[in-house]
Amino acid sequence: MLKNKVTIITGGTRGIGFETAKLFAQNHAKVILFGSKEESVKKAIEKLKKENIEVEGFFPNLNNGKEIEEVVEKIYQKYGQIDILINNAGISANKKIEDTSIEEFDKIINLNVNAAFYMTKAVVPYMKNKQSGVVLNTSSMVSLYGQASGVGYPTSKFAINGMTKSLALELGKYNIRVNAVAPGITNTDMVANLPKEMIEPLLKTVPLGRIGEPIDIANAFLFLASPMANYITGAILSVDGGAKS
Ligand code: NAD
Repeated sequence: MLKNKVTIITGGTRGIGFETAKLFAQNHAKVILFGSKEESVKKAIEKLKKENIEVEGFFPNLNNGKEIEEVVEKIYQKYGQIDILINNAGISANKKIEDTSIEEFDKIINLNVNAAFYMTKAVVPYMKNKQSGVVLNTSSMVSLYGQASGVGYPTSKFAINGMTKSLALELGKYNIRVNAVAPGITNTDMVANLPKEMIEPLLKTVPLGRIGEPIDIANAFLFLASPMANYITGAILSVDGGAKS
């Protein structure tokens, strides 16, 4: 579905991003995954190579707009186009507000929101040139309902929805579609790090009766990136087993 589409995926070394990188490459996209460390990027590339899947990888500091601009330019110089960006890197939180330091709050906003802005700002000129492009953001079910602890996380995901809808309005005339996927509880390291007391009550609210798998989210990204979604922009697609909390 994505033949030769040059696709950048942040947080592509594990979890949802890794599964998405794999699925996109299987659909013949040229995938460039970003990770936070050289070592994890290498490991992800090697893991995919064992399945005969070739991807490239970089590890720019996502909190450094200049560094991002330089890596994106390098990718553009090599491929002559950037078709799809998936802003997926993210961290969560679960502490009470009194226990959350200012630094911890800033760290979440810096990665979950600011980095998505830096990345999008870096690719948009190339997409405008081509008069086509797809930007996909990773929101969360907490962007709809909030969350009773770790306020920085839902705050960041509400912001991502705002960024998605606003850029869809701004960039539609250049044939650049901007959408988000809002996963429910998904089986990755992020959830493994959360306390059981937080997960169990949430699972009871899932009509489909199971936790999501990374491939469930990757499939939604694939749909939204593909021509099948050519008339969809500004959408926040819930992929959460029907959860309501
Ligand atoms: P994960 O922890 O398995 O993966 C996170 C990815 O982000 C990794 O590839 C990691 O390298 C990258 N990352 C983390 N810190 C980084 C940094 N400082 N700089 C660059 N990259 C960094 O988590 P996941 O569950 O796959 O999460 C992916 C996205 O999905 C996140 O945006 C998350 O908020 C969202 N999400 C996850 C769930 C869930 O239940 N797992 C639910 C809703 C939304």
